[in-house]
Amino acid sequence: MSTYHLPIYDKASSLRSDGSRNFVHPADVRGRFDRRRQLSFAALIGLLVALPWITIGGQPAVFLDFEHRKFYLLGATFNAQDAWLVFFLLSGVGFGLIVLTALWGRVWCGYACPQTVFLEGVFRPIERWIEGPRNERMHRNAGAWTWDKLWRKTLKHALFLLLSFAVAHIIVSYFVSLPRLYRMVLDNPAAHPEAFIWATALTALLYFDFFWFREQLCLIVCPYGRLQSVLTDLDTLVIGYDDKRGEPRGKAKTTDRGACVDCNRCVVVCPTGIDIRNGLQIDCIGCARCIDACDDVMLKLHQAPGLIRYDSQRGLQGQASRWLRPRVYLYAGLGALGLLVMGAALSRSRPFEANLLRLRDAPPFVIEGDRVRNAFEIHVVNKRAQRATYTIQGETQPQLRYVVALPQIALDPLDDVRVPVFVEVERGSRTTGVAHILVTQQGGETQRLEAPLVLPRGR
Ligand code: SF4
Ligand code: SF4
Repeated sequence: MSTYHLPIYDKASSLRSDGSRNFVHPADVRGRFDRRRQLSFAALIGLLVALPWITIGGQPAVFLDFEHRKFYLLGATFNAQDAWLVFFLLSGVGFGLIVLTALWGRVWCGYACPQTVFLEGVFRPIERWIEGPRNERMHRNAGAWTWDKLWRKTLKHALFLLLSFAVAHIIVSYFVSLPRLYRMVLDNPAAHPEAFIWATALTALLYFDFFWFREQLCLIVCPYGRLQSVLTDLDTLVIGYDDKRGEPRGKAKTTDRGACVDCNRCVVVCPTGIDIRNGLQIDCIGCARCIDACDDVMLKLHQAPGLIRYDSQRGLQGQASRWLRPRVYLYAGLGALGLLVMGAALSRSRPFEANLLRLRDAPPFVIEGDRVRNAFEIHVVNKRAQRATYTIQGETQPQLRYVVALPQIALDPLDDVRVPVFVEVERGSRTTGVAHILVTQQGGETQRLEAPLVLPRGR
């Protein structure tokens, strides 16, 4: 019968026995997974910075203008009426992440989560650059305040604050256009208090997170980490320790030991401070630093690498793993369904919206001499990313006469307009009781709107 190593949860990795914070100072590590992670961090930070500057069809690639309820996403434009699509977009992306987790564990956390990307790709390297390697940092932190400690801490916190300010403004640039954001930064904050409060709060939050909170966000705040145990199973690729090969652990010179020389390198490089040899733990963010560290030790001892490796829990027990299993099909199916519905809705979306309403506060009809008049308004929304021109006219019927307040209108992307339209009927004439208004986009489609008429008895 196979045995699976259960995690030892005698205490949280980031807490001391007296309940105080055990501040984690990960040691440096180099290796193939570290190189891949650094590449991923650089690419993702580059993308985050570049996206607000990239335009598609003259509009920003990603711009969420909540103030004017206009949203631009990779060439597509949305307004508040399209909010229902967000559900399908989020469910598609959410289930995509769930499939990823079922197959490859917390690869998202280790390689692509913004918390990891900025902490490991920006803030921690700066700390390492200013305060030195792990032992030096810990020694200086425990010591008295000296000039050396003071200038290093001051420089680190100044850079952290500056970078938090920059990252906060990059985030804000997704919600406020870049030229406007630039003007706001130069302006008096009192001229735009909301944006100022957002940018300041974000700066403070990022600074607090990256200088102090760090791995605590993954361990006690992030809901995705808490879900890990229900999303993964024995076949999921995780980072694990091969205890069959490693145990009994012992120092390099001891005989009758397994492959693990108990050097503790896998523990000191871990950014959440756990010992992966205790089994798969919810605190493991899948960063693979322990693999690089242990592989390095194994190579120095002329042993095969892979004592800690990517493998399923079955694989670590020497059994075959199943890649495709019911939960993967189920998650993938649900994710595909969400994206399919959104794709179908997008492909059916019209280049503009035109709706007919009765003119607000107007009586159902007005009699003027021998004519009866009904008042409507046409609401036109340009749903495309380009400026467009529209003509509004009534469909010819012998008994009807139309008066359109603005027969031709031009609208910027996602702009809308309400145009009053009056339909007049000769009293006593025989009509179908329904008028039709045509809204035509120049060089595009025509929408035919039905306008039921209200007429006096006996007309
Ligand atoms: S790095 Fe490898 S050899 Fe060293 S303690 Fe960890 S598992 Fe054992
Ligand atoms: S146990 Fe290994 S993979 Fe998990 S967080 Fe620690 S170093 Fe990263």
